[in-house]
Amino acid sequence: MHTVDEVLEKDRLSRDDMLSMLSLSSGGDIQKLYDAAYRIKRQYVGSKVYFRGLIEFSNICDKNCLYCGIRKDNTGQQRYMMSRDEILDAALWAYDNGYGSIVLQSGERTDPKYIGFVTDVISSISKNTGAKLGITLSLGEQDLRTYERWREAGAHRYLLRIETSNPDLYAKLHPADHSFMRRVQCLRDLKDLGYQLGTGVMIGLPFQTQENLVDDIFFFERMEIDMIGMGPYVIHDDTPLAQAAAECDKQHNFELSLKMIALARIMLRDVNIAATTALQALHPQGREQGLLAGANVIMPIITHKKYRELYQLYNDKPCVNEEAGQCKGCLESRIGSINEVIAYNEWGDPPHYFRRTTGRAMQHP
Ligand code: SF4
Repeated sequence: MHTVDEVLEKDRLSRDDMLSMLSLSSGGDIQKLYDAAYRIKRQYVGSKVYFRGLIEFSNICDKNCLYCGIRKDNTGQQRYMMSRDEILDAALWAYDNGYGSIVLQSGERTDPKYIGFVTDVISSISKNTGAKLGITLSLGEQDLRTYERWREAGAHRYLLRIETSNPDLYAKLHPADHSFMRRVQCLRDLKDLGYQLGTGVMIGLPFQTQENLVDDIFFFERMEIDMIGMGPYVIHDDTPLAQAAAECDKQHNFELSLKMIALARIMLRDVNIAATTALQALHPQGREQGLLAGANVIMPIITHKKYRELYQLYNDKPCVNEEAGQCKGCLESRIGSINEVIAYNEWGDPPHYFRRTTGRAMQHP
């Protein structure tokens, strides 16, 4: 049996090592795990924090994931779709305020009208910023041609969360017509098209084991994922999963999420990892703690205030009553409080992407 120090000195952790790290219970040992991850973060990606301004431009969704507040069958949910000009205004606000990149996110739709609309929005943003604003998409499962169109229009990163890498657990979280293999194929298509590839999982789900979480990290490694966005599972009351999750322990899920961020950093090293907003739904300093456990990206919401409260995938989402400018000031002081700096006007691409596509590591300045 190895001590925590011995495990953290290894070049590569085994499955048993990872399980033992997820099971740590002493505050001192858990801190050692976070500190080891933080050292690796500084070595491989530095201590700058990269912003991705998040524009949640529509909560209309054709799917029915059992955990999600904007699922199609949640008929009590008021729906919205921002106009092209509203989205462009938000993107230009991000650009003018030095955010290196934005994320365009919505519920999943695959109809031609929506696909054409998104293509037009991406082209407009690219044209109006001289292609200097990084564009990440988080728009679910699409066919190869659609991903290709959006890439040609100017997007270069794509986030598609697998939510869990275990097909049996995936089946418990989704209706029968939602396919795990289809989602994996979408990730492969995105990689083949040259996107920087992002995925992630929920942590602390009903029916989920620590073995599942360790497998998630191996999945990220096997799929050569460049960007990871994972966070605690947070219940949304108006969803079918809420009942199964009634016993959900928020503090446990929060701590488990930080341990997963730390393990992902230790195992994958030069990827980007987001300190997700869901962390802050469970702890007032959730995102700062995520950065200290190995994350290096934050996605401040820049969706106009009038739409924010309509885009609630889970309960207690933070920042729903703020405007983008207030979030910027708040995050500056939060990030300053842990002695990290925000990398304004930089894309902050993950070195992992360059290593896997060119075979060369990019030197971190
Ligand atoms: S998780 Fe995404 S695809 Fe599933 S219901 Fe929610 S918005 Fe739609």
